[in-house]
Amino acid sequence: MSETTTGDGGRGRPHDPDCLFCKIVDGDVPAELVAEDEHAVAFRDVDPKAPVHVLVVPRAHHRDVGVLVQADPDAMLAVLRLAGEVAEEHAGGQYRLVFNSGRQAGQSVWHVHAHVLGGRNFTWPPG
Ligand code: AMP
Repeated sequence: MSETTTGDGGRGRPHDPDCLFCKIVDGDVPAELVAEDEHAVAFRDVDPKAPVHVLVVPRAHHRDVGVLVQADPDAMLAVLRLAGEVAEEHAGGQYRLVFNSGRQAGQSVWHVHAHVLGGRNFTWPPG
């Protein structure tokens, strides 16, 4: 598991050369981008769990949402703002926003990401 940062690789932001989502942010792994700004990038999940399933990640490498909010509040805000914009545009503003944090919660990629899920009915509580 990658921890918060392994240095910035000259980018001026935390970066992990082994991290899949850092590679997507850098354009080294292809992804279907739907939005981006200075701090965050949104791209379609490769294995969608709903008709709309977009991941929103900070450009900076941080392990999970709890770490991000402490380390870089501006990037945290950017992730939430971009997620809201994606949800408005792609899911008509009806969506679920999920941060899986930790293995038990289902996190499998150790670069914080918001799941924007929409386009169908969801049940509660989640599985
Ligand atoms: P989580 O399990 O919450 O860490 O979410 C990781 C998400 O990343 C899963 O929904 C995967 O389907 C998704 N994923 C894994 N590899 C890629 C990829 N190359 N491009 C887009 N999404 C991916």
